[in-house]
Order: sequence, then C-alpha cells, then structure tokens
Amino acid sequence: MSYAADAAQNAWYDGHNLYNGPFEKKFADYIGVKYAIAVPHCTSAIHLSLLAMGVGAGDEVIAPDATWIASVAPVSYVGATLKLADINEKTWCLDPDSFESLITDRTKVVIPVGLYGSMPEFQRIKAIASHYKIKILEDAAEAFGSKYMGQYAGTFGDTAVFSFHASKTISTGEGGMVVTNDDALYERMMFLRDHGRVPGNVNYQNSEVAYKYKMSPVQAALGLAQIERAEELIAKKVEIFSWYRDCLSEYSYLRLNPELENIESSFWLTTIVYAPELDIDKYQLIKNMAARNVDCRPFFNPLSSLEAFKSFTDINRACQSNIVSYKLGQHGINLPSAPIITREQVMEVCAVLIEEIDKLRKDKNHS
Ligand SMILES: *Cc1c(COP(=O)(O)O)cnc(C)c1O
Repeated sequence: MSYAADAAQNAWYDGHNLYNGPFEKKFADYIGVKYAIAVPHCTSAIHLSLLAMGVGAGDEVIAPDATWIASVAPVSYVGATLKLADINEKTWCLDPDSFESLITDRTKVVIPVGLYGSMPEFQRIKAIASHYKIKILEDAAEAFGSKYMGQYAGTFGDTAVFSFHASKTISTGEGGMVVTNDDALYERMMFLRDHGRVPGNVNYQNSEVAYKYKMSPVQAALGLAQIERAEELIAKKVEIFSWYRDCLSEYSYLRLNPELENIESSFWLTTIVYAPELDIDKYQLIKNMAARNVDCRPFFNPLSSLEAFKSFTDINRACQSNIVSYKLGQHGINLPSAPIITREQVMEVCAVLIEEIDKLRKDKNHS
C-alpha cells in the first residue's frame, strides 16, 4: 500500500506518529543534522525559529531584499524590526558586507536565503554572525539538496527551514521542516509548537500560551515517500538546468543561475536575468511567453519595493542602496522547471524566449 493511503487508514490515535517520526528522522539523517521537526509550512518553521530564539519587540532581524515574502513575514509576527540587506551579484544571496553594514547592538538574527537553489557565502556570514553574537536562521526552502563547500543547505544555521509547498523540490502539497543541532532550541520549538506543553505531557498542564504547528500524518507519509526519492528529484532539477544552459549560454545578454566553484546548486528554478540595457519589461515578457503557452514567473521583486512594506521606514531607505536586488529583480524571470518537463520542451521554451526577447527589443528600437 502507498504510504499516504496507509497513513489515511492507520495514522490515528496511537498511530498518529506512524509517519511523522520516520519522515523527521530520515530528513535529519539526509541533511546531516540532529533534529528535524515537521510543521504545516515553512512560514511556521520560520516563526517557530524566531520564537525559540527569543526574538521580539525591540530586536532587529536582517534578511536579504531579494527573497519570497515568507522569509521575513514572521519577523512582523513577533514584533521585531526588519532590516533588508542587498544580495551578492555572484551568489544571488545575502551579501556579507551589506549584512555587516546593517548590524547594530539590537541585531539578534540574520536570515540568509538560498535563492533559487544557490547558497550564500556561509564562511563569511558565519564568521560575522559569531563575532557579533547574532543567530543564523537559514532559509533553505529553495535550496534542498544544494551544497556549500560539500555540506548540505540546512546545516549552516542555528536553525534551518525547508518548504514542501507544491512548487518546491520535494513536496507534500503544503508543509515545512525546521532543523537544528541545538538541544535547547529543539526543546523550546517542540514546546512552542504544541500549545506550550512539554512533549509527552498528556495532563493538559500547559505552562505558556503558544502555537499549534504540526504536520498532518498524511502529509508526513507523502514527505517520507519524497525523501526516499530525493536523489532522483534533485538530479532532475540539475539536469533541467543543464538543458537550459546548453541552449542559452551562447546569448551574451542572458545570465543563468549562479554556478560557483564552492557551491553545488540544486537549481530549484532555472532563472534568467537579461542585460538591463535591453530595457525590456519583465511582466511584458512573461505575458508574451504566456500567450505562447509558456508559463514563467517574475524574479522576486525586492521586498523594499513592495506595497506591503510601504510603512516600514527603515526598509524604504533600502531602495537606494540594494542595487543588486533591484538590478536582478527587475530583469529576471524563472523558466518552467517542473520535474516532468522534457528536454524537447526545454528546447521549445528557449526558442520562444529568444524570439520574444528579440521582438521586444525590435519594438523598442522602432518606438
Ligand atoms: C517557499 C518559500 C518559503 C515559504 O514556504 P511555505 O511552505 O509556503 O510557507 C519561505 N522562504 C522561501 C525562500 C521560499 O521560497
């Protein structure tokens, strides 16, 4: 029987941990960490991490300007102040110098993000964070299976978080995981994610008002089946990227995801960034691609450019200084990267992409 069907039939009452436990164990072993806790989504994993790290009002948290809003929304949930650093042109991830320039004596946590499967320069980020006694919350939602200096994403933070949203490299529909090697953080997270109750306390003696962040057993069963296929799924992402690279590397006005010596990317989404000089609107390009049946997504808009952060005065100032986040964010799109895509389809996408870019450039020259 499939794991999910078995979970639906048997993971009740005493069996509620039938799949959560094995999924967490297998995930922790795969990454190479001591503890893993399955939660409803990565957003709750980030929230739980910040709570366990004791972050609250008056504290500052630094994150890259170029990421999905989920990386930073929980900073607001705990009432802390968000500071947005720039990303690095080479890695597309948190720039160590920009991070260091934002540190104050109220900085408590930094959230480096492995954007589209790339990874930040953890050697420097860890050195800076440890010098200023700042905790690292590693957002590896997009970097499952990526490695920095031979070591898996998810092993660099005091806690690290993953997403199993339908779009992610391994998926449970919705779902997330928080991992750590720290006994105290683990215990605090286990307590906070179950309504302020010490695991095993069945006497309903809650000692704090907290949260309920548990993954459902059917999702955990899906997760267990996915982690057993992890190698295959990661290899597929890498292969899809290599098809795109073979096809697109001859176009000097295009850049693809970073490929660096010390980083093995799992290429969650193959992403192109075109030369700003082409002066093409990314939304127009996406619209024209959609008209030809190719579904693309925009490179994340810098968080500091979003309506959602309009009232955050610290952040508004970031618009001027986060040059790389703006340069890449305004001139990039994600190409179709689902594991079911074939080589022939990738070739078609490339042909359509080049044609549509050419058309937009010509339109520009005539107007
Ligand atoms: C997908 C994603 C998240 C959030 O994941 P959810 O499971 O949807 O909460 C967080 N950070 C990054 C970088 C993501 O890409």
